[in-house]
Amino acid sequence: MSDLLLRDLSRLSDLLEQARASALEFLTALPERPASVRPAPPTPLGLPDAGLGAEDALALFRRRYEAGLSGSVGPRYLGFVTGGTTPAALMGDWLVSAYDQNVSHGGDSLATSVEREALGLLRSLFGLPEDFEGAFVSGATVANLVALATARQWGMERLGHDVSEEGLWGLPRLAVLGSAPHASVLKALSILGMGRRAVQDVPCLPGRPVMDPKALEARLVALGGAPAIVLASAGEVNTGEFDDLEAVGQLCRRHGAWLHVDGAFGIFAACSPAHAHLLRGLAHADSVAADGHKWLNVPYDSGIVFTRHLEQQERSFRAVAAYLGLGPDLLHRTPENSRRFRALPAWMTLMAYGRDGHRALVERGCALARALGEALAASPHYALLAPVTLNIVCFALRSGDAARRDQLLAALQADGRVHLTPTHYAGRPGLRAAFSNWRTGEADLPIILAALEAAASSV
Ligand SMILES: *Cc1c(COP(=O)(O)O)cnc(C)c1O
Repeated sequence: MSDLLLRDLSRLSDLLEQARASALEFLTALPERPASVRPAPPTPLGLPDAGLGAEDALALFRRRYEAGLSGSVGPRYLGFVTGGTTPAALMGDWLVSAYDQNVSHGGDSLATSVEREALGLLRSLFGLPEDFEGAFVSGATVANLVALATARQWGMERLGHDVSEEGLWGLPRLAVLGSAPHASVLKALSILGMGRRAVQDVPCLPGRPVMDPKALEARLVALGGAPAIVLASAGEVNTGEFDDLEAVGQLCRRHGAWLHVDGAFGIFAACSPAHAHLLRGLAHADSVAADGHKWLNVPYDSGIVFTRHLEQQERSFRAVAAYLGLGPDLLHRTPENSRRFRALPAWMTLMAYGRDGHRALVERGCALARALGEALAASPHYALLAPVTLNIVCFALRSGDAARRDQLLAALQADGRVHLTPTHYAGRPGLRAAFSNWRTGEADLPIILAALEAAASSV
């Protein structure tokens, strides 16, 4: 071992204390830290021949980069759908690196049991039937990928082909039906060799980004029993709207189609009795994608995939080698072989805050979105582009084009109190504010509104 490694090992307690102090300093200063920043990056460094040791490497990192990190873990970063990190999740995540378990197989550690237990807790939180088998992945993108790979395997088996062995070469197309699926679903279709253009657009209900069940029925009837994959959304990213999973699910059952539900953030509606009805029919799903690093408030990266077709899933993802074995191991369910112990932060936060804590967290996000929506509807500068149904406010400047909207975003970033991301909805350039961070509270609303009004007056 090098002298530096030996020296660092002998000072481990002091080094971890420095990391703890740095983390605490960062988190304590969150209220003053800009929600987002975009400084020019420094000139890249070269690889040192003699290393610096951990203490100096940390000091160098902080000096060069810390001020350039965003406050995305803080209460007024409302871009995308961005959760923070609860105290329990943070503790869990630190320990993941200390334990450094490889959760690919269960032969040498109970870590896989923690993953299975955490998946059971999430199944219960989401109200999913017991026959849904889960796995942690890096995010909802990969959860969508795993689900659609499994659906592809299922559909091709129905046509007499084992696509995991043969590939898609020369095989007929599978019908893929949906309205405005998330970009990550299209990415998954691209990776899977099915193609983004495979999606046959099902018309939406008037003025809403959700499938018209009547139109879906007509498409399914026209397929005459050929296997189809139906892409439903539990939480559309602009509006938070849900497909009617009961109606869509019954149609899928009747016509033998696979129902995939992308519930990256929306599945957390299950935590709130006032919103759980949005998920009615979820039990009809064949596969479900969810995110941990959004509304569960565990750190990146954390996603969860559930399917009730483990056989097809394992046919797609098994890694066959004498040394890997073919037990019921989690590596045969996901793209990775070696797998991070990412179940632990989720387990910690679920145990620490329980059903009631997650209910309160979700309900607070929805209440804040509603309140911001009401305030913006009454503002001279802004108008809502869609009703607030969950935790997202989709709105626009009353006047002006995309260039003015972009100037507004730049003004907001320069101000630093709040971070929003742009969108295009209902034919207009718009803005989105998504509430999914446990730290965001009532006291943030007037600050968010003041920043928005000031920015609108300045452009
Ligand atoms: C965020 C999101 C995704 C992609 O999730 P990642 O965690 O970024 O991989 C997929 N679908 C929906 C609806 C999302 O909101």
